[in-house]
Amino acid sequence: MDLFEYEAKELFAEYGVPVPKDKVADTAEEAREITAAYAAEGTPQVVVKAQVKTGGRGKAGGVKLADGPVDAYEKAQRILGMDIKGHTVHKVLIAEATDIKAEYYLSFLLDRANRTFMSICSVEGGVEIEEVAHSNPGAIARIPVSPLTGVDHAKALEIINAGRIPDEAAEQAALLAERLWAMFTDEDATLVEVNPMVLTPDGRVLALDGKVTLDDNAAYRQDHGRFADASATDPIEARAKEKHLNYVKLEGEVGIIGNGAGLVMSTLDVVAYAGEQFGGIRPANFLDIGGGASAEVMANGLEIVLSDPSVRSVFVNVFGGITACDAVANGIVSAVALLTERGEEVNLPIVVRLDGNRAAEGRAILQEANLPVVEQVDTMDGAARRAAELAAAAPAKGA
Ligand code: GDP
Ligand code: MN
Repeated sequence: MDLFEYEAKELFAEYGVPVPKDKVADTAEEAREITAAYAAEGTPQVVVKAQVKTGGRGKAGGVKLADGPVDAYEKAQRILGMDIKGHTVHKVLIAEATDIKAEYYLSFLLDRANRTFMSICSVEGGVEIEEVAHSNPGAIARIPVSPLTGVDHAKALEIINAGRIPDEAAEQAALLAERLWAMFTDEDATLVEVNPMVLTPDGRVLALDGKVTLDDNAAYRQDHGRFADASATDPIEARAKEKHLNYVKLEGEVGIIGNGAGLVMSTLDVVAYAGEQFGGIRPANFLDIGGGASAEVMANGLEIVLSDPSVRSVFVNVFGGITACDAVANGIVSAVALLTERGEEVNLPIVVRLDGNRAAEGRAILQEANLPVVEQVDTMDGAARRAAELAAAAPAKGA
């Protein structure tokens, strides 16, 4: 899970990583009030920052200095609602403006390739690190960090010196790095990035921006529920998660249900390929119902897929292994009955391809059930083609 800048900085503050004073606003009016309060305390200069989970906000016009409450109101009004790389701005952060003498870069991350942690540090900050890597690769230091020994003050200084952070900032930057590391490990993050870490003219070092990715696999031992971002999750994905289904929403029209991640992945490819002949029909989702495809799991899967308004046909692709095809066929029959019982209309064509263990028995069960929405095709390619054809022929829902 990625955090917003304001959330990242909340965590920074908890761990003693210095950040400018700030507050979040949902409206331009709030931005004005917050700035008025800062002005009353003697600091009318603020920076208005778009809160979206993507970088390069500054370049996109989503970070603006403002001089006093009226200016902050106007800047906030301009930034709120803005689209930055496909992310709509719903909140702005109002931070006391910081005078900048120099901008540096510092991050900790999980280095999967080398099975360890790594710190990246550079005297060239502010711009995206990929850009520095391109224009001046020598300016970037990559320092492995052992999970066993972590980052003490000596290690922090090693990182800061490797990044060639100048002496006037080094001691404080090292302190910041130590605290950032504590946050990184205690919160089970896989990435914390401070870009820029700045030096002020009066010699302070602080984090002006923050990017944090938390490890969802550690959620059970963390208190990160407060960062859950309901607006960012697709509502169908959220419901699938509640039902413990392995579902990812995609852009197309053919709902996909399969058993096994590998099979579902290749089903997506085959449907996308077949769909090219039907005006660019594409898979609408990834859904792996796993090994034990019980009637209930199948019903939940079908319900989720059918609830997607862009779905126009469904392709159930099952290769019987430990779970035999006759069990899956029974699952499909009961699933349709179960959904009808629940009052869910099952009126989209469902193309079923059963192969593998007890395929003949499974096909016979579906044949016998004679469900009007179900159509069987024996091969994966053929079934994908038929599902794409049916999707292309069906009118869009609500049309
Ligand atoms: P990003 O573009 O999404 O990475 O957003 P940042 O928070 O990193 O801001 C982009 C740039 O805006 C920084 O690199 C700074 O140069 C500038 N900036 C951000 N906050 C301040 C501030 O308080 N004072 C000044 N002078 N510049 C700032
Ligand atoms: Mn930044």
